[in-house]
Amino acid sequence: MSKVSEIIVEARRKGRKFLLESEAKTICAEYGIPVTKFMVAKSPEEAVEHAEKIGYPIVLKIISPDVIHKFDVGGVMLNLKTPREVSEAYQKIVDNVKKHKPKAEIIGVLVQEMAPSATEVIVGAVKDPQFGQTIMFGLGGIFVEILKDVSFRIAPITIEEAEDMIKEIQAYPVLKGYRNMPPADIETLTKILVNTSKLVMDYPEIQELDLNPIMVYEKGAKTVDARIMLE
Ligand code: ADP
Ligand code: MG
Repeated sequence: MSKVSEIIVEARRKGRKFLLESEAKTICAEYGIPVTKFMVAKSPEEAVEHAEKIGYPIVLKIISPDVIHKFDVGGVMLNLKTPREVSEAYQKIVDNVKKHKPKAEIIGVLVQEMAPSATEVIVGAVKDPQFGQTIMFGLGGIFVEILKDVSFRIAPITIEEAEDMIKEIQAYPVLKGYRNMPPADIETLTKILVNTSKLVMDYPEIQELDLNPIMVYEKGAKTVDARIMLE
């Protein structure tokens, strides 16, 4: 069985519809979608060990099947620069989650590299009852939330279709670079869209996928948060 199938089967067995971020990112990586380096820790000491391997600054996040929006429950701590900060943040995150959601099962804490800020984009997939898997692209933040500046295609998409999706949003000039903002790596973005399409076509049991945000650099990109919901 493939790594992706194993993760899906295991989640189903446990009655989970939402995959953990660690699971979603593992699946993305299997399909060549670039994600932040990450490791699972079960204690503050282990978190520090992982942080040393990954390199500072570090981000810690709660791993819980009962927490969908991690930030809202104090489950995300950014820009941790020392072993002490990592170890304290571990405890703080666990305390925060216990306070906000006393019944939440806590699996551990995800230790990950802090992705430098850059132009943020969103890639999504939704299984439409009529059209099947559809792919969405847009820039992060206000562009999607307020301006609804997004493009859609029905999967599977070709490289050309992915390029069109990127070019057709109104904010496309932002990606081409302006003033002292360097141009974003459109080739990598194109691959992310095509690979997302491949993933949801291969696994029709994926109901929704959300890569939000992806930091896009002059060279390469990093998915900072990934959510996958099963049927
Ligand atoms: P939530 O479950 O609340 O959506 P996220 O994982 O998206 O939690 O984290 C909240 C925010 O923190 C992100 O939108 C992003 O701005 C920032 N963030 C999270 N992880 C990282 C990271 N590895 N590097 C840089 N910024 C991050
Ligand atoms: Mg998020």
